[in-house]
Amino acid sequence: MIAAMKVMLVNPRGFCAGVNMAVDVVDQILDLFPDEPLCVYHEIVHNRHVVDRFRHRGVTFVESIEEVPDGAIVVFSAHGVSPAIRDAARARGLRAVDATCPLVTKVHAEAIRYARKGYQILLVGHANHQEVIGTLGEAPEMMQVVESPKDIPGLRIDDPAKLAYLTQTTLSVDDAEVIISALKQAFPEIRSPPSADICYATTNRQHAVRTLATSCDLVLVVGSRNSSNSVRLTEISENCGTPARLLDDRSELDPAWFEGVERVLVTAGASAPEDLVRDLILHLVEDHGAEVEQHDVQREAVEFGLPGSLKNLMRDGGVDPATRSIRIDTGGDTSRWLEDRGIPIRTVDLTVGATN
Ligand code: SF4
Repeated sequence: MIAAMKVMLVNPRGFCAGVNMAVDVVDQILDLFPDEPLCVYHEIVHNRHVVDRFRHRGVTFVESIEEVPDGAIVVFSAHGVSPAIRDAARARGLRAVDATCPLVTKVHAEAIRYARKGYQILLVGHANHQEVIGTLGEAPEMMQVVESPKDIPGLRIDDPAKLAYLTQTTLSVDDAEVIISALKQAFPEIRSPPSADICYATTNRQHAVRTLATSCDLVLVVGSRNSSNSVRLTEISENCGTPARLLDDRSELDPAWFEGVERVLVTAGASAPEDLVRDLILHLVEDHGAEVEQHDVQREAVEFGLPGSLKNLMRDGGVDPATRSIRIDTGGDTSRWLEDRGIPIRTVDLTVGATN
């Protein structure tokens, strides 16, 4: 038993607008068309629980279009897909619903624009990440991936005056800055994206951890190991000198982590459902006697609408899309949820205004 341990529950955390949209797209298809076979190309979002819950409801996750049965609905995940995948689905006559996050689609559009103008594009990101694979597919002959400054000497550059860079949406802001400044030093004429590619949700969740990590002894990040933005949150904490653990849920907690720990910061990656955070907090309160403080670092007000391809599917199925919208799962209700269970929660408001 650790006396008077404090839990600092940080906001923003958890589901972002793109994940809310992608998860709800699958949820709505299951609700509206329960008898239709439904496949999702790649994990809808990088979270084990989200994927397992959909699997239990009958969704099949595939890694190639060939695996999709004739006549099935196929959903493209939040990370986006290359045009080759979209073309393959079209050639098969499949009903495709695109749940790509609009902020990923924006990076695809930038890649297409630069490639059409004859620019070579350096894509800063993780080469094996699904988002990078999808973006690369927009203009593979014009793009090269840069994972670290060490990659720069090996790049094949035709004309340094016709060069642009883009980034994966879920990178560490700090790491990306290091790579981008190395690119600018090597290629002073390199063009930047018209607006930041690292998305608002990644930026805000990282900022919140960076703001509070030095005020606590341990950071717990709820998220899966293949979730890029969740892993980045642990790295940011460790760069601040505070140990961090990434866990899918409370079952992965190790009592040894809490030795000598008085303040624990709890956050969640953009694809981690809030009920897992609540479950973790409840455990820390019940088993460690923890007191809970909510720290609001920034407010968010970003929402996305129904994708056009889902509206088309609805119309074809006799459902009026005007009667539907994306249902939002925010962390905002957790304080009430805790209070309803007799757990007091104090709020510390550090907000600097809504960000988009
Ligand atoms: Fe979109 Fe950012 Fe969320 Fe990825 S993390 S789904 S880019 S909002």
